Parts: sequence; C-alpha cells; structure tokens
Amino acid sequence: MTYDYDLFVIGGGSGGVRAGRMVAGLGNRVGIAEEFRYGGTCVIRGCVPKKLLVYASSFAENFEDATGFGWKVGDTSFDWAKLIANKDLEISRLEGLYRKGLENVNADIFDTRAVLESPHEVRLLAEDRVVTAEKILIAVGGTPHRQTELPGHEYCITSDEAFDLKQLPERIVIAGGGYVAVEFAGVFAGLGVDTTIVYRGPEILRHFDMDMRQHLHQEMQKKGVRVICDETFSKVEKTDDGLAVSLAGGEVLAADQVMLALGRVPLTRQLGMTKAGVELDWSGHIVVDEYSRTNVENIWAVGDVSNRVPLTPVAIHEAMCFMETEFNDNPTMPDHDIIATAVFSQPEIGTVGMTEDEAVEMVGNLNIFKAVFRPMKHTLSGRDEKTVMKLIVDSDSDKVIGAHVLGPDAGEMAQLMAIPMKMGATKADFDRTMAVHPTAAEELVTMYQPSYSYADGVRQD
Ligand code: NDP
Repeated sequence: MTYDYDLFVIGGGSGGVRAGRMVAGLGNRVGIAEEFRYGGTCVIRGCVPKKLLVYASSFAENFEDATGFGWKVGDTSFDWAKLIANKDLEISRLEGLYRKGLENVNADIFDTRAVLESPHEVRLLAEDRVVTAEKILIAVGGTPHRQTELPGHEYCITSDEAFDLKQLPERIVIAGGGYVAVEFAGVFAGLGVDTTIVYRGPEILRHFDMDMRQHLHQEMQKKGVRVICDETFSKVEKTDDGLAVSLAGGEVLAADQVMLALGRVPLTRQLGMTKAGVELDWSGHIVVDEYSRTNVENIWAVGDVSNRVPLTPVAIHEAMCFMETEFNDNPTMPDHDIIATAVFSQPEIGTVGMTEDEAVEMVGNLNIFKAVFRPMKHTLSGRDEKTVMKLIVDSDSDKVIGAHVLGPDAGEMAQLMAIPMKMGATKADFDRTMAVHPTAAEELVTMYQPSYSYADGVRQD
C-alpha cells in the first residue's frame, strides 16, 4: 500500500509545526493541517501576545519609579486599540515565519480542520477530500475550559477573547488561581483596570512553592488586585451597569468583563478518535506511551492533547523526540524531569524542581535557604516590593532539588538555574560559584546558612 504522505500532522501549533518541519526537512513527504492559524495557542493567543501585554502593563510602574531616579515624567496616556493592533502585527509576522519554515522544506500546508477517518486516512473538511498517510501525528492542543454548567457562562470571556477586546474594561473579575488568572490580573491591573481574582482554594497557584504563592498574593494586593480565596462563582448576570458576578458566599461583584481562567481541555471531540480507534483518558486527553505513541500503532500525539506537561517547550521537545525516534532511527524518549517554568505575574515567578512541601514529603531531610529583600532598583524608586529567593537542598546528598524566585527577571533566572540542577548540582557547587555583583541573582550563590531544616520530614527550629 502506498500512502499520499509519510507523515500527516493534525494541528499547526508548537508541537505540530516543529514535527512537520523537522520530518519534512529529512526528505519525507509531509502534510499538515491547521483549522485556525499557524503558530497555535502559544503564538497566536497565548504565551507570546501575553508577554507583550505584560510589557505594556509594566510601564505605569516604570513611569512612577522613574521619579526616584530624578526623572520628571509628563502626562501619560494609554491606547488599548494601538497596543492590540501592534500585537496583531507581531503575531501575524510570527505566523508567517511558521508557514515559511514549513514551505522551505516542501511540506504541504492545509488551512482546514482535519479529522481522522481511519488509522491511515485524514479528511480535510474545507476541501472535502481524504488523504492517506503512513504515520499520523495529532498535535491539536487544547482550548479554554468554558464552565458551561455555570449560569451566565455565555457572558464570560476566556484568554482567547481577552487578547482581542475592542476596549479595555474598567472593572474585571477573573475566576481561577492558575497561570492565566494571575498573569492577566497583573496585565489588567497594570493598565489601570479594577481587577479581582476569585480562586476556589486557600491560596493562588496551587502547584507552586507556598512562599512564592503567599508573597505573590501580597504583592498583587499591594498593586491593587483584590484576591478572594476559598470562593467560587455561582452565577453571572447581565445588569444595566454591565455584569454581576454572584459568589457562592453571597457577595456580588460588579464588572464590565468576567474572565474564566479555569484550565484547558483537549481538542479531541469530533476528531475521529473513535473511527481510528485512538484511546482517550477520562479527561479526553490522548493516552500515549513513553515515545508519544497512541494505542494505534501508526498514530502519535504530542503537546497539550496528551496528558503530560502542558507547556510549549515540552510540546516542542516531544515533537523532536518523535522525529528522532520515527524518522531518524534514534529512539528517544521525552525527558519530563525537572522542567523549569515561569509565571509572568507581576512580580514574576521562576521555578525549577520541587516545592518545599513536595520535598518534605518525598525527601524528608532538607536544608532550606531563603532570602527576602528589597531589589536594588526599589531603594531609589521607593516601591514597597520584595524579591524572594529560595533553595531547597537534600541534606543527605547536598543536591539542590528546588529553586524558586519571585521578583524581576525570575523567569530568566529559572532558565539558567535549570541547567546546573539538571546536571545534579550540589549546594557546595552553588557556594563555590563566584557571585555576579550587583545582581539579585547573586543571592542564589551567597546564602551560606540554612534558614531552617527538616529531619525525616519534621521541621527543626
Ligand atoms: P491552570 O491549570 O494553571 O489553572 C486553572 C485554575 O482554575 C486553577 O486555579 C484551578 O484550581 C482553577 N479551576 C479549575 N477548574 C475549576 C472549577 N471548576 N471551578 C473553579 N476553579 C477551577 O490553568 P490556566 O487556565 O491558568 O492555564 C492553562 C495552561 O496553560 C496551564 O496549565 C499552563 O500549562 C499553560 N500556561 C502556561 C503559562 C506559562 O508558562 N507562563 C502561562 C499561561 C498558561 P485548582 O488549582 O484548585 O485546581
């Protein structure tokens, strides 16, 4: 049997485009289909435009901080429409680069929704035809959870719409306490919007280190964000004045926009999973083995559609491993151990490895090194904002197993800390590393005395 393609990729986001480009670059016949825009969530309505909005929103504080350094800043004003137009230009440029990368290696690019008809057949809906492929990669990602059981959910936006609002709201209420909620809260508050976050648990950012969570909560409040924990929405209604959010505890919050930032769901519905016999888990994610292969021998899945770590660099890494394994005769399993991550909240969080609570449970004997200080810039700006740095060290092996930073450029630090930690660096390695002075990051190599310790999981004070 001959097929139209050696590989057909469904989904033109970070994982799909990378796999398609690399596999076609090796001389294989590759087809790729995307129903929305090439680049996927990260480029079109995720990480990239989000970071541009974070930059935009940080100027208000920069103007204020400048006065402590002798500057007199005149009248300032902000134009949301201009920001969105400029953001759109940039993402269109990036989308073009993604397409060009595929064109350069002669991949066939389809602008259509594609669904599986059988293990080797893909229907291209816009063209109403079926193509065949020896191997198929599913990389369709996910979409925001819209909580359709919530009365009034239809009045709410998600991150998808937040990037293209016609005008900046005066008041916004955001549901959720994860990445998207805290990042957008920072953006909106920085742009002068009256911002409230409503989170169902006791403290925002559940999977992060408690020190980072608590300090971020405090810093966000200092910037005027109202953070309500242990609360949920019970309904959202239209009013003469905009929208009203009723909370389970009885309080009613007035808003112009209400945003749901409640996680994402995989886009596996009506994708032909049953026709092709691809197994899904309880949450609709595609079940894969350690090489990203589904239960169907010639079908693989990478990125957010598989239930692993839903981050862009992880999808790209999984795609590269798939290419190596299936098209370069070099079986390579994705390595999901020690993944650094950043939250572009204001201030930012950068984190690598275990939280203190995880380490207490899994390791037990620990030294914790912690520093809380005012960043140098704020000695003159006068801003009341703290940086927090924390190292978690396995006291038996001396290995640094967790590193957490809250403060300016924390994401950049996380990227660099991840390298020694991946190599198994010890606290002694950190200590014998010369400091770069004056930086905030030097604190990571100058915390000589533990702030406190644990023995068998019990804190020793
Ligand atoms: P997250 O999983 O980070 O957070 C979802 C939030 O919604 C959590 O606080 C969760 O609470 C809460 N939640 C979920 N379901 C409900 C519900 N039914 N009722 C009330 N609250 C609920 O998802 P996000 O939407 O913030 O982001 C989606 C993904 O995108 C992230 O997982 C991340 O992988 C990626 N992302 C990464 C970024 C980065 O790298 N900087 C930036 C933005 C997104 P609880 O914690 O209690 O479960």
